[in-house]
Amino acid sequence: MENKLAELKTRLQEVYNLNSAAALLGWDQATYMPPGSAASRGRQLATLATLSQQKFTDPAVGKLLDELQPYGESLPYDSDDAALIRKTRKDYAKAVKVPPAWVAKYSAHSTVSYQAWAQARPANDFKSVADLLKTTLDLSREYADFFPGYEHIADPLIDGPDPGMKASDIRRVFGELREQLVPIVKTITEQDPADDSPLRAGYPEDEQLAFGMTIAKDYGFDFNRGRQDKSPHPFMTSFAIDDVRITTRVQEGDLSDALFSTLHEVGHALYELGIDPALEGTPLAGGTSSGIHESQSRTWENIVGRSRGFWEHYYPSLQKQFPGQLAAVSLDDFYRAINKVSRSLIRTDADEVTYNLHVMLRFELELEMLEGKLEIKDLPEAWHARYEADLGIRAPSDVDGVLQDVHWYAGLIGGAFQGYTLGNIISALFYEAALKAHPDIPQQTSQGKFVALHGWLKENLYRHGSKFTPNELIERITGGPLRIEPYIGYLKTKYGELYKL
Ligand code: ZN
Repeated sequence: MENKLAELKTRLQEVYNLNSAAALLGWDQATYMPPGSAASRGRQLATLATLSQQKFTDPAVGKLLDELQPYGESLPYDSDDAALIRKTRKDYAKAVKVPPAWVAKYSAHSTVSYQAWAQARPANDFKSVADLLKTTLDLSREYADFFPGYEHIADPLIDGPDPGMKASDIRRVFGELREQLVPIVKTITEQDPADDSPLRAGYPEDEQLAFGMTIAKDYGFDFNRGRQDKSPHPFMTSFAIDDVRITTRVQEGDLSDALFSTLHEVGHALYELGIDPALEGTPLAGGTSSGIHESQSRTWENIVGRSRGFWEHYYPSLQKQFPGQLAAVSLDDFYRAINKVSRSLIRTDADEVTYNLHVMLRFELELEMLEGKLEIKDLPEAWHARYEADLGIRAPSDVDGVLQDVHWYAGLIGGAFQGYTLGNIISALFYEAALKAHPDIPQQTSQGKFVALHGWLKENLYRHGSKFTPNELIERITGGPLRIEPYIGYLKTKYGELYKL
């Protein structure tokens, strides 16, 4: 059995290396690649995707997994090898259902589509990407149909980013959340808005980047195993446990954009950097789901990075770095400014209270497209109508409408957005558990120290990589299933101090 396990690991390492090389090409595409190189990059990525798929779905891998199954089940459930065999068997069963020709077609298409979006968005030209998006929807439906027997056509698409979650479950949880959130948003937005003009006082790019890097270091981001670059849409990507990249974008007229997107992506990176090195080169060497991943970005961006205690420590040094802009702004006014609640158009800029309304409407639009109830040509207007209904505002163009997010132009339609709101819910769930173990976490935060929280997250979450499913992790960490109460409690406590609720 040891020989078979070693052979399996050797084969998985090759797949992992191919995927890492593809991720590096993808990172380059989103950061430094010249725009005219999209077609050749698409061919390169398609070749790597095909090779990776061929190597992973090799019948020899299936045979090894079948032979190793009884051995895996004889081991303790949480042992590395048991988890490796269990997870790889599930991934393999899914992968052999997707034909290599589809994988190559999808990979080439998404590269062209991403590049078209990068040009269409500044030009407010939805028409130039509409046909590509229609192909994306067709490819998404084709993918779902490789898994017949689903309850909802979105389920196979959701199972990739959030294994074990179903459209019906998510609709129920989102329904509960919406019921709680809508009255809170209404009560807050009827009150005088916070003044966030100090955040737009003009902040030189280099100094913004330097300040963000300082906090990234304090959080525990290891610049010896990672780096930060710029891209139009911030993201985190990992090529190995010791090579994790984040990107940000900087606007001189908006201090919060680069700062909080950096803290967000650092949260994703801490998760990847914290994975047990013993899992390197296997399917376990990555975060387990988009919802769990997002719980970490939102923890470090919001629960920590937008807390009052955090700014008690950092605000004096921020004022020192930008005296002309902030010397006359009190800590209380700054704290209110970075937690301003308003009905706004851009998801990534949205405050914690309204953010989930942005996510839930995208999730519903995805379901409607997949159900065949919404055609691509009607999508721009459906987007505007939903914003008017849910947030009471309408974007003046498609730039901040249907062209706003990269997801549908660089991936499939279905499963792209629910992870953000699941992440918010889970961030509060896990933070509550961390506080039980270390009640002094808020006190440490107000001293610019994050060792207790980071250490607890590494021990209970990060080191496990993908050994456990999201629901298993939630059960292990909190002793129960997913629930929204800690998140609602967190919002009500924090915003109850800032506004009359
Ligand atoms: Zn994120």
